[in-house]
Amino acid sequence: MLFDMHVHSAEGSPCASIKNEELVKAYKEKGFDGFVLTNHMSRWSMECHYKLEYPDFCKMLHDVYLEAKEHGDKIGLTVLFGQELKLDCTGCNDYLLYGVTYEQLLDYGDMMAWTPEKLKDASEKDGFLYYQAHPFRDHMRIVNPIYLYGLEVFNGGQGFEHPWEDQRNDIANLWADKYKLHKISGSDCHEITHVGVAGVKFLSDIKDNNDLLAALKEDNYYLVEKAITSR
Ligand SMILES: [Zn+2]
Ligand SMILES: [Zn+2]
Repeated sequence: MLFDMHVHSAEGSPCASIKNEELVKAYKEKGFDGFVLTNHMSRWSMECHYKLEYPDFCKMLHDVYLEAKEHGDKIGLTVLFGQELKLDCTGCNDYLLYGVTYEQLLDYGDMMAWTPEKLKDASEKDGFLYYQAHPFRDHMRIVNPIYLYGLEVFNGGQGFEHPWEDQRNDIANLWADKYKLHKISGSDCHEITHVGVAGVKFLSDIKDNNDLLAALKEDNYYLVEKAITSR
């Protein structure tokens, strides 16, 4: 099953221009079985753009997911709830979260104030998984690998923000090998031209986050990497 692991929609990410309904249709047309909606959980998005308190921000992100899922259900495309979390303490770094429930987000409180160490503890306790996104893009900080489950070793966002921006996917891949980190690949889709430029092919059926977590924990997939520089 072909899934994109890194997707934003306009309703939940200020920087994205493609709306839920168009997004699910575009993924269906590209032959995908589904995607994880990883809208930004960042202080800029929450406080500066949406001007929400943390619980309301989580509700907004979850409502956006439910709407996307409804559109997906109509046409047979699976949409799963994920996040792209920015931690205050590691600057511009982002972490892709898979399998965190809405209830957990509320229980945890403001996750943006967490450390990578705390993320690891919660992940081990509650079973969700997290991968540092585009770890060698400009302005990213190297995180001690002992605090990471995995890395996004292929980010499709080559030249998205700026034509000269380099994700350095090759370095991310070498780093993951060196420290035996689990690997993931995603488009970082923000607009129609980014749809499905990367993802993963699962070797098992993925219908919900439990299936997703099981497949990720078993590394039961391979990475799909298409356009690197051709955006
Ligand atoms: Zn964004
Ligand atoms: Zn992203």
